[in-house]
Amino acid sequence: MLHIGCHLSSAKGYEAMGRVALSIGANTFQFFTRNPRGSKSKTIDVQDITRFLKLAENNGFGILLAHAPYTLNPCSADPKVTRFAAQVLQEDLALMEYLPGSLYNFHPGSHVGQGAEKGIELVASQLNDVLSSGQTTTVLLETMSGKGSEIGKTFEELAAIIERVELKEKLGVCLDTCHVYSAGYDLVNRLDSVLEHFDSVLGLKRLRAIHLNDSMTPFASFKDRHETIGKGSLGEQTFINLINHPVLRELPFFLETPRDEAGHGQEIAWLKEHYRA
Ligand code: FE
Ligand code: FE
Ligand code: ZN
Repeated sequence: MLHIGCHLSSAKGYEAMGRVALSIGANTFQFFTRNPRGSKSKTIDVQDITRFLKLAENNGFGILLAHAPYTLNPCSADPKVTRFAAQVLQEDLALMEYLPGSLYNFHPGSHVGQGAEKGIELVASQLNDVLSSGQTTTVLLETMSGKGSEIGKTFEELAAIIERVELKEKLGVCLDTCHVYSAGYDLVNRLDSVLEHFDSVLGLKRLRAIHLNDSMTPFASFKDRHETIGKGSLGEQTFINLINHPVLRELPFFLETPRDEAGHGQEIAWLKEHYRA
């Protein structure tokens, strides 16, 4: 079965997100743990979460994906920024335990001139501070497009972070199709070899989720501009190949395309139509 959802606003709570997901044909979704550009965490509404978990169980939802705020930069040169990152990670991972066994994705961050090596060390040391052996959440590093001084534009950089983390079993990778294509991994013409490369550098067992986005910019542009499925430089056939690939087809797929709820519903319907039984 295709596990498919999109990014939803968490403004109205978990049960509300679950209902929106159902209304657009999704069986999972992604959400921000807090305002993506702000900092304040919301108070945890346990009753709302309980109602959501019931709804999810009754409707056979797949694994959920939470996304850390964009303002999180664990490898900044500014100690104020890294302290904020540590606090957010700590609070978010505590929140995630109310949704046991879910995924939590974050951008490794931007090294802002310190160099990739230094950035990799800083991210790994933050992860060593916040991960705990008792957590049920898997923390995902997202593959990035490499705009500015972003870390995570190569599989090797992500592997170098994981390498330095003690509780590696708590880590995975979320592959963003727009980002990797922008970063120079040719999903259009060489999907098999990209996945083989992923396997040799990171191991396919680390691959836990896919951000399914087309791209407004050409191959290896090192930009980050999401496009509607099939309308960008990846094109329809690439998405048919992605969702049906034997290595990927059981993973959860999350749309982050520039569409409203109805538009996401159309994309989901199209993907379901092209998913081979
Ligand atoms: Fe992201
Ligand atoms: Fe993404
Ligand atoms: Zn992006």
